[in-house]
Amino acid sequence: MNTLFELTALELAAAISRGELSSKEALLFSNSACTANADKLNCFTSFSASDPIAAAPVSPLSGVPMAVKDNICVAGTATTCASRMLRDFIPPYTATAVEKLTAAGAVCAGKTNLDEFAIGSTSETSFFGPVKNPWNLEYSPGGSSGGSAAAVAAGLVWYALGSDTGGSIRHPAACCGVTGMKPTYGTVSRYGLVSYASSFDQIGPIARNAADCAAVLDMIRGHDGRDSTSLPGPYLPLSPQLTGDLHGVRIGIPDVYFDEAVDEPTRRAILSCADTLRRRGALVESCHAVGLEHAVHAYYVLACAQASSNLARYDGVRYGCRAEDTHDVQDLFVRSRSLGFGREVRRRILLGTYLLSGDNYETYYKKAVAVRHQVENTFRALWHNYDLLLTPVLPGPPPKLGQEANNPVALYQEDRYVACANLAGLPALSMPCGMHKEGLPIGAQLLGPHMADGAVLNAAFAFQQETDFHRLHPPIFGLGGDAG
Ligand code: GLN
Repeated sequence: MNTLFELTALELAAAISRGELSSKEALLFSNSACTANADKLNCFTSFSASDPIAAAPVSPLSGVPMAVKDNICVAGTATTCASRMLRDFIPPYTATAVEKLTAAGAVCAGKTNLDEFAIGSTSETSFFGPVKNPWNLEYSPGGSSGGSAAAVAAGLVWYALGSDTGGSIRHPAACCGVTGMKPTYGTVSRYGLVSYASSFDQIGPIARNAADCAAVLDMIRGHDGRDSTSLPGPYLPLSPQLTGDLHGVRIGIPDVYFDEAVDEPTRRAILSCADTLRRRGALVESCHAVGLEHAVHAYYVLACAQASSNLARYDGVRYGCRAEDTHDVQDLFVRSRSLGFGREVRRRILLGTYLLSGDNYETYYKKAVAVRHQVENTFRALWHNYDLLLTPVLPGPPPKLGQEANNPVALYQEDRYVACANLAGLPALSMPCGMHKEGLPIGAQLLGPHMADGAVLNAAFAFQQETDFHRLHPPIFGLGGDAG
């Protein structure tokens, strides 16, 4: 059974369709790995009693156990957003992405832990306690989709859905040594995804490799009339675009994202990633990009503003936990929100409300919108000369648990290589490309123009044909069984 852990999602599905094992056996394997290890990692908020499919495979991933970040609704199953506020929320509807996966024969093993309301980048702000990094339990798995990335890295499920508002798929994927993709904004429906910052939020896969990510995306992409920002289709399927051929593909490494803050191991890993891509035929060179350095600041202004408005609905009346013994409706709102939200979420709401009030709207919010346009224009200019961009995901190793708890601004800064893709709505992927000496993975980010998701995935696919970083497993979870 241990070898099951070594398979990718597509390999497992192929074994199931050849009749070498049943989807029930795969689910039993996943369930027992989860039971043995999930507590150590704290990567699940709940397990589901999903039945394995018995019928003939209906898609390339039929019968493969997966997990869903707990800010994505599954009807009848608690969707807590890792917040006390929604601890008892059972949605009456299912997110389109999950509906599509279920129709394609996916088996959900459970809901994964996250930063409260997907706000954060260490998966420590969860009401249910921090998620641990499977490579070293003293480190953060990154965030906010830390539970999804940890569960895939530890071999508890073969892929998982995450959400990415300012890096929350790519950041934990990098920290846990797995592959994660934020698709072009509007290509995966946000229906059923609990909103954080709606103009950035996007659902995407975290898996062992780029081919699995493409297979998942092919199942969940598509126009959805229930999401007003959903792009009209049809979309070209992604999996057939994975040829591994990079001849003539021009890849730029923007100087602003390869600065002195990048530590030596990360720098070496990115440069060697560039060499590997060259061996596959790509032309890789450093490039100058003006204006991208302000992206992360604009991101935080806009994300906080949108969060303050999206989270206004949790008032103890319309949604969320309700404080007892309040004396009027104002008191009910104030005390329910103070009770339900954790520290970081309260900080973001306060900041967002401040940024939208009075003159601040002109001074900060409108300026951030202007920076967003500038970032879009910078990318548009870069696409004249480059097909893709290559950057680090974060400047160094993932933070140790507790390390950044009192330094939110330092933590916000760590998102500077990833948040730009959300500002411009671009497809971006993180893939493992090296190791820090502490035994923690290093991630490389590939970004592409709007709707060039296939080109991004193909570059990652080519890289993964040449390298084995995506096949490494955390030593303590190497057998897919009890970590001891
Ligand atoms: N770390 C970023 C934030 O805290 C991104 C979070 C996300 O992508 N959900 O806002």
